[in-house]
Amino acid sequence: MNSILPLSQYPSPQPTPPWQQAVAGAIRTPEALLAALALTPAQLPAIFNGSDQFPLRVPHSFVARMKRGDPDDPLLRQVLPLSEENALTQGYLDDPVGDLDASETPGVLHKYHGRALLITTAACAVHCRYCFRRNFPYQQQNAAANQWDEAIRYIEQDTSITEVILSGGDPLALSDQRLAALSNRLDQIPHLTRLRIHTRLPVVIPERICDSLITWLSSSRLSPVVVVHINHPNEIDKDLHQALQRLQTVPNITLLNQSVLLHGVNDDSNTLIALSEALFASGVHPYYLHLLDKAQGTAHFDIPLARAITIFDEIHAKLPGYLVPRLVQEQAGASGKTLLPLNSI
Ligand SMILES: *Cc1c(COP(=O)(O)O)cnc(C)c1O
Ligand code: SF4
Repeated sequence: MNSILPLSQYPSPQPTPPWQQAVAGAIRTPEALLAALALTPAQLPAIFNGSDQFPLRVPHSFVARMKRGDPDDPLLRQVLPLSEENALTQGYLDDPVGDLDASETPGVLHKYHGRALLITTAACAVHCRYCFRRNFPYQQQNAAANQWDEAIRYIEQDTSITEVILSGGDPLALSDQRLAALSNRLDQIPHLTRLRIHTRLPVVIPERICDSLITWLSSSRLSPVVVVHINHPNEIDKDLHQALQRLQTVPNITLLNQSVLLHGVNDDSNTLIALSEALFASGVHPYYLHLLDKAQGTAHFDIPLARAITIFDEIHAKLPGYLVPRLVQEQAGASGKTLLPLNSI
């Protein structure tokens, strides 16, 4: 049946993709976040705007998966700036994982054999309060400068590199055109075999898995590996499930998840077991469960190492091996992530 659409529903000549509109429309103030969740300031007295460098930011789609009226909601805790962030805690650093020492060329981190990580952008659709890059000097560290020239040159010159990892920020904050311009150049470097993307954007905005992203990922010569970042089973709603299914239409794709073990979010084994089950039901394999990187301002998310190992042992006791993420810690100067539990502990 033909019907006449209201004018606003006709596509404009150069439409902004819906996911970019969702990025632009994200919630950016504590007042708006509290209002969306029917919470009162009295229920969350310690909330503030976040810092100028790392203000509150969360897309509506992610907020819609939070429980209204619950100040302890595990999704809310991940994005809620609390005044604890301003406490200076001993042992917490601005660059806890030694990224600046590992940077050979602006925006290129080459810490591990065979893998070069590109800082593609400073932007993220969501600001996760526990993020270890919250203090990162993105102005000096951006591989996108000069059309990626220096980063490409670095990768071309080192034939031991077989995999390029797009990171950030969030690489999927870039348009598909810009991503294609980069991967077209990477495709021509003969020693590369894999292109990996570390992203949280589709988790908070499932529309990001759009047709043009699928076309881009399907067109590269390199085998695609997408590592999403989901911390709690409540993050996987119907929209995200469908987006993850769409992503699996990319030929030969490998789809993995990494989580961070966070106090007040996912620090119990039943939650993490439910997460592994939900990931598998959406075609995603658990990859890493990271211990918190000790970035200044994140101490309120940390849990004692012994407790982390107990949680891990409980998961291991109840799930098939392929649903158990590897418990890892990033240590500055190490040749890879450090696997736990270590015998020495
Ligand atoms: C984590 C990380 C990688 C990837 O490590 P994998 O164990 O291969 O997942 C690569 N480069 C840097 C700088 C990293 O921090
Ligand atoms: S999306 Fe990733 S990089 Fe961005 S703030 Fe969250 S954890 Fe950090």
